[in-house]
Amino acid sequence: MDRTHLQALTALVGDARISTRPDDLTVYGKDWTKAVPNPTAVIFPKTTDEVSRILRYCHEHKIRVVPSGGRTGLAGAANAIQEELVISLEKMNHILKIDPINLSVTAEAGVIIETLQKAAKEAGLFYPVDLAAKGSCQLGGNIATNAGGLKLIRYGGTREQVLGLEVVLADGTILDLDYDLRKNNIGYDLKHLFIGSEGTLGIITKATMKLVSLPKELRLTCMASASFEQVTKLLGLVNFRGIQPTAFEFFTHECLELVLKHSKQRKNPFQEKSPLYVLLEIEKQPEGAPDPLEPFLETAFESGLITDAVIASNSAEFQNLWGLRENISESVAMEGHVRKNDISLPISSLPGFIAEMQKILGKVRGVQMFLFGHIGDGNLHLNYSGPFQQNYDEFRSITRDTEKEVFELLKTFRGSISAEHGIGLLKKADLHYCCPPEALTLMQKIRAVFDPHGILNPGKIFD
Ligand code: FAD
Ligand code: ZN
Repeated sequence: MDRTHLQALTALVGDARISTRPDDLTVYGKDWTKAVPNPTAVIFPKTTDEVSRILRYCHEHKIRVVPSGGRTGLAGAANAIQEELVISLEKMNHILKIDPINLSVTAEAGVIIETLQKAAKEAGLFYPVDLAAKGSCQLGGNIATNAGGLKLIRYGGTREQVLGLEVVLADGTILDLDYDLRKNNIGYDLKHLFIGSEGTLGIITKATMKLVSLPKELRLTCMASASFEQVTKLLGLVNFRGIQPTAFEFFTHECLELVLKHSKQRKNPFQEKSPLYVLLEIEKQPEGAPDPLEPFLETAFESGLITDAVIASNSAEFQNLWGLRENISESVAMEGHVRKNDISLPISSLPGFIAEMQKILGKVRGVQMFLFGHIGDGNLHLNYSGPFQQNYDEFRSITRDTEKEVFELLKTFRGSISAEHGIGLLKKADLHYCCPPEALTLMQKIRAVFDPHGILNPGKIFD
């Protein structure tokens, strides 16, 4: 971008809200993935109107832009590596309205998810999308990636919470779809196109999201189990008993050891080692109603689905058990190079798929594998890890070959290569494993309608 463009953009927001400082370019030019950030500038609009004027200018002059949220993405979708203008939403961070009758919250896109959760709680309500990145990720980023998270099994993911959106299109047009309606059948529901579009169809500036009643006090158990077959049956037992989990997560013993190594405050609740651990969280029953958890655990023991279990008896134990699951990603990042896979399958296919996948992973040398995730949603996070001393290209080449084999297998099970993290830059070469060519062609046509000059997040999802 030449000096004239920079001056024109500066005139739109003022000197203080555009930066070309190298440290800003480095910080705002990438997400959590490995990349060499290379944006030209970072601009910080404060209003929808400013976003509109910035995009109108960029559209006219064919300046490529990268919408930027909390930069916690795991697919490289927020990376600016081709001299783009980064448009950061972080200064559009106001909660505009909480409506306790409609059970909804309207907020600007740059609001941090944890802030949104706290505001809902202060109003006696609950915003149910919850993920370990909540302290940094933003509402707009969550919508643009359709973030899933830890409570999807009970409340659905981000898509299920969106009631309305305000979006600025590539040419600067402000598209006001920000309705607070539970029912609204007026033809194509365009807001859904922006959910999960990874900043390629428009910049989300405002959203109205569903809220729910505050959950009752929570009960949490961590169970040790011998195999994925047992874990799947355990979920079957949960369903059969009519227990409504607010979370059903799993991790392997290798993940547990890694978290204990890197997070010294976490404690192992078990004496004996077990291949797998499952966290089951439920709401406490109303006063006087029988507790479903202990009889459930008894049956699970008697039928051999679990070999041990602990129930959190106070908030420190509760935090500790959740920490064992939530600290896995950051522990893997501390351990060495990481390559993340985020796959999903029909839950009933998991044991068969994992047995086949273990054969593929069993052949790999020089790389460790950490398996964990939202198993109650059929979502597995497979993280490959290599020591920092290992040459990165070598690590990449070993993991790439393995990953391709795993994706081939996944295809035969009709699974997805991205359950929740999205495609971004990292997974676009693998989109064909689960996206039929006809669907890809339609996506390309839709993108061309919304952004004829191809300025919005170019190179992301597909070329
Ligand atoms: P960014 O990373 O900044 O951007 C992501 C994409 O959204 C990019 O394409 C960007 O261009 C686009 N974008 C951002 N803001 C806007 C906007 N206003 N308008 C249009 N496009 C925009 N993800 C899950 O789904 N579930 C999890 O459980 C989960 N756990 C995580 C745990 C950790 C420790 C970390 C680091 C990440 C985790 N993630 C998880 C991934 C990540 O947090 C999500 O993808 C999140 O939704 C990204 O939000 P963000 O604000 O950081 O977006
Ligand atoms: Zn996840």
